[in-house]
Amino acid sequence: MIKVKDIASAMEQWAPLAWQESYDNAGLLVGDKNQEVSGILVSLDCTEEVIEEAKAKNCNMIIAHHPIIFKGLKSLTGKNYVEKTVISAIKNDIILYASHTNLDHAPKGVSYHLAQKFGIKGQVLSPVKENLKKLSFFVPRENAESVRMALNSAGAGQIGNYDNCSFTSEGIGRFTPNQEANPHIGKALKAEEVEEMKVEVILPSHKEAEILQTLFTAHPYEEVSYFIQKLDNTWNEVGAGYIGELEKEISEADFLQMIKQKLGIQNFRHSPKTGKKIKKIAFCGGAGSFLIQKAKAAGADAYITGDIKYHEFFDAENQIILVDVGHYESEVMIKDAICEYLSNIFCNFAVLKSETNTNPINFA
Ligand SMILES: [Zn+2]
Repeated sequence: MIKVKDIASAMEQWAPLAWQESYDNAGLLVGDKNQEVSGILVSLDCTEEVIEEAKAKNCNMIIAHHPIIFKGLKSLTGKNYVEKTVISAIKNDIILYASHTNLDHAPKGVSYHLAQKFGIKGQVLSPVKENLKKLSFFVPRENAESVRMALNSAGAGQIGNYDNCSFTSEGIGRFTPNQEANPHIGKALKAEEVEEMKVEVILPSHKEAEILQTLFTAHPYEEVSYFIQKLDNTWNEVGAGYIGELEKEISEADFLQMIKQKLGIQNFRHSPKTGKKIKKIAFCGGAGSFLIQKAKAAGADAYITGDIKYHEFFDAENQIILVDVGHYESEVMIKDAICEYLSNIFCNFAVLKSETNTNPINFA
């Protein structure tokens, strides 16, 4: 039996809720986390039409990229499309879950998948900072390895493509247990000297509680001596946008053609051509104006995103070609990625891609 919390926890392994922007509202929005899931429908937006589709396909859970409840609800009377959609979900016992800016920031998130449409492998354009911590602790030599292994399984010690990363040095630990203590080594009120190892590992901030609990469980001491430090490091795999290079540079005209072909669209807006060839391309699924300066600073010849405003197109300043392919068009591919991800974890379980086109923007 697969429950809502199993699906949520799988989604949050990929896109932890801690990675969402402060203004966001990702996570479980409607429904009980202990409810059994009959099937999942994956959509970019949640609308009444998507709820109808879920019902018709016997899916009682909808995973949407955009949270239908975003600014909070003070009443639920059906006076607008948000309230109507939420009421319909509740009446039909349909669970709503959103994975939004946390999925934008996750490794292989929205912008990565937009870049994959162009066959580009690169890196995160604007990696996050202050999302990593360092744990140092002291452990008797004979327990060092088992504690290290337990911490690695709990998610500590991962740096880029490297797992099980740690540094160990050795020294002498000194302590005197008081009369209330129940020491693993030594006796109450007797000063002790023990050959100890100091182990240092990096960890994601959002896993701190879990990793500390693992340390306390795996460590033989009654009182574990440890330090947690905040790091200033950037976390290169996590953050907004994506940037990489085409195998061969192409003309601007070919590039604009390529966008139509790769994204299957006919209409989009772009800033004036610069006359330069295109090789390095930056991407951001959704509203990406906030990364225009980063894309320019990173030396991108072009930046593909959505929701660029009139005045923001001037920021191209003949250095870059800014392309607004549309919010929906720049993110819709994440539906396939979510379906594939969940299907791999929950084999033989219905994870369906919504066929409803929720794009509210039409071209005349
Ligand atoms: Zn979006």
